[in-house]
Amino acid sequence: MSAKFPVLKPGATIGILGGGQLGRMLAQAAGKLGLRCHVYSPEADSCAFDVVGEKTCAPYGDEAALARFAAAVDVVTYEFENVPGETASFLARLKPVLPDPKVLATTQDRLAEKNFVAELGIATAPFAPVGSAAELAAAAEKIGAPAVIKTRRLGYDGKGQATIQKVGDAAAAWNAIGRAPAILERFVPFEREVSALAARGRAGEVVAYELIENVHRDHILHRSRVPAEVPAALAGQAIVIATKIAAALSYIGVLAVELFVVAEAGKRRLLVNEIAPRVHNSGHWTLDGATVSQFEQHIRAVAGWALARPQRLGRVEMVNLIGHEVEDWAKLLAEPGASVHLYGKREPRPGRKMGHVTKVFPES
Ligand code: AMP
Repeated sequence: MSAKFPVLKPGATIGILGGGQLGRMLAQAAGKLGLRCHVYSPEADSCAFDVVGEKTCAPYGDEAALARFAAAVDVVTYEFENVPGETASFLARLKPVLPDPKVLATTQDRLAEKNFVAELGIATAPFAPVGSAAELAAAAEKIGAPAVIKTRRLGYDGKGQATIQKVGDAAAAWNAIGRAPAILERFVPFEREVSALAARGRAGEVVAYELIENVHRDHILHRSRVPAEVPAALAGQAIVIATKIAAALSYIGVLAVELFVVAEAGKRRLLVNEIAPRVHNSGHWTLDGATVSQFEQHIRAVAGWALARPQRLGRVEMVNLIGHEVEDWAKLLAEPGASVHLYGKREPRPGRKMGHVTKVFPES
């Protein structure tokens, strides 16, 4: 593996596919370590472009632009899990791509992802495929209601999802998501949502952060806090699950596993909701609340460098600034103890992640 993926030297260039805030914060972390970044994104107003020396603005299918990008970088990674599989495979023939493009094939398709998790013996909400009217009827029968229908591909932040209150609503819900190939999943009456965030290095070593607790608003992450308020044994199980998933994917880099905590008859158990093959919004607290951030860990992993053993600096809370909430930036800057991060996006559209604020409190 090490011959295939040479260890980078300071001054080397990491290519990042995707130009959002995750790419921006990855590039900022790389800069700290003396590494350069080259961001590839189809969108001219990508906020990651602002913090790198080299950028390519071209469609993901532009092979000439991809070849020039590959020639200009030492290794390629991604900040966006919906990079087309063909783009990642094309680049992998020219330069190391980490994590391996086959990870995208699993995580871009909710059905493949859920089957993969289930085959590892890890619990998920009951689910069934929906690709035709007959399959929809069978799925509705098997899963019951309430349930959530989700497109297999290109869904994020609640996009491509509809909730079903009764079995008879399944057809209308499928119509609402454009009759795209989908899965029907039982609605989980979760007690809380958590995420396990871990880095896996080239030698297979895994370093996890403490379990994070998340609150979503309109399906978008609103707030995260660390440590999650769950029994230590349950937090340990979540980390074991993330480690098992990372190992099964031969993963290199940072990944997040989103889980539901379900309380039944006084017992708590975990169900995996989703795998994010990248740095994750719920890990933004690590920039201020840990000695080494998730972004630096990811850069270290793809560079072939030693992973850090990050220490948490206190009890941490992170709040996203969504859409117009960012207009409070001046007030937030004046708040004692608040660390404000703004992504430099020009237009605060509804639902758009514009920045976040972190507070670190002394451990009580
Ligand atoms: P997802 O796009 O699958 O990450 O879903 C976004 C959010 O929708 C999750 O973080 C949950 O808050 C909610 N959600 C998704 N699936 C379910 C489910 N099966 N039961 C209850 N809530 C869900």
